[in-house]
Amino acid sequence: MIFSFKLIITLSFFVIISSVTEVNAQSLTCYQCGYSITSGSYVSVDGKVFHPEHFTCAYCGRSIGNTQYYKDNGNYYHPDHYKQFIAPKCAVCGQPIEGQYVEYEGKIYHKNHYEEQIALLCSFCGLPINGTYSKTFWGESYHDYHEGRVVKCDYCQRYISDEKTAGGIRYDDGRNICGICLTSVINDDNVARHLFEEVKKELRRYGIDIRWDEIGLYLVDRNYLSSLTDENRVIEKQTGFTYHRFETFRGTVRNKKFDIYILKGIPEMEFISTAAHELMHVWMYLNAPYDMDKAISEGSANYASYLVLKNRSLYRAKYLIDNLEKDQDYFYGDGYRRIKRLVRAKRVNGWLNIVTGKERMPTGY
Ligand SMILES: [Zn+2]
Ligand SMILES: [Zn+2]
Ligand SMILES: [Zn+2]
Ligand SMILES: [Zn+2]
Ligand SMILES: [Zn+2]
Ligand SMILES: [Zn+2]
Repeated sequence: MIFSFKLIITLSFFVIISSVTEVNAQSLTCYQCGYSITSGSYVSVDGKVFHPEHFTCAYCGRSIGNTQYYKDNGNYYHPDHYKQFIAPKCAVCGQPIEGQYVEYEGKIYHKNHYEEQIALLCSFCGLPINGTYSKTFWGESYHDYHEGRVVKCDYCQRYISDEKTAGGIRYDDGRNICGICLTSVINDDNVARHLFEEVKKELRRYGIDIRWDEIGLYLVDRNYLSSLTDENRVIEKQTGFTYHRFETFRGTVRNKKFDIYILKGIPEMEFISTAAHELMHVWMYLNAPYDMDKAISEGSANYASYLVLKNRSLYRAKYLIDNLEKDQDYFYGDGYRRIKRLVRAKRVNGWLNIVTGKERMPTGY
């Protein structure tokens, strides 16, 4: 977002009254009345000359006389008339504005009144924002110039500071997390397993019934997680991975093995969202053709996240849905939006039938 300071080109000048001399008497013609100025004094302004009584205020029509005048838009004014009737007024104090002003959302302000009363204050440094800035989903506004110079929380995008985020920490694997996000992180295997089973139950209500009891669940750090995946997915976005192995004997599948890895120390809502995504992969491995289009499988897995997030009232759930909606990745973002449109048209049931190949994918998705 951008706004700018502007300068009103209104300046006050002093009227210069000169006297007609023998030398220039012949050549002076009043710009207003057209008669030559033959005796006495005259006013010369911007290369034009006037009888003093014909150098008049564009507001009242009377002579400006031997005093100060204001010039605006090619017109001349008595200072009082200019200030009272012509000059733009500050939307805070109502007083006329000369010189520098700020235009913001259709109104104009004295620079100092804008900064004191109207300006956004930067949520990081507390100073008024006079220029480009960014806004977080949570409503904080930040000067653009902090970008890259201050540590951001990987889980909410807030700048980490003692006052605004109750500090934060850096995990050994390089992730930064603020004090706000830290309050709900999942580090405990038992807590993780409990939440995981809850999500599994929740998905069952949508018909995503995972009929496989033994699914390994491991909380791991980012280095471990990235060693499992061969994807080029931006590493910051990867919060989970599903490992699967189908053991075959003489051409038939004898055993299936699933292990889900989820990043340790992510906030509970991220954990729930990730669990839904990975569980959807398990469901697809069990029910869908193996050679599925990746945009459909990742889009569907993200849609499962959406299904468990949309029922949660915490603002963080809305934040994660917003991230899904804005994801620019072809597989994860576009794939998700394609599935969302598909569900709108065919309902959850139609989507699941299409994923499993029971129904054909309609055209246009
Ligand atoms: Zn004249
Ligand atoms: Zn006037
Ligand atoms: Zn003002
Ligand atoms: Zn700032
Ligand atoms: Zn945070
Ligand atoms: Zn996935």
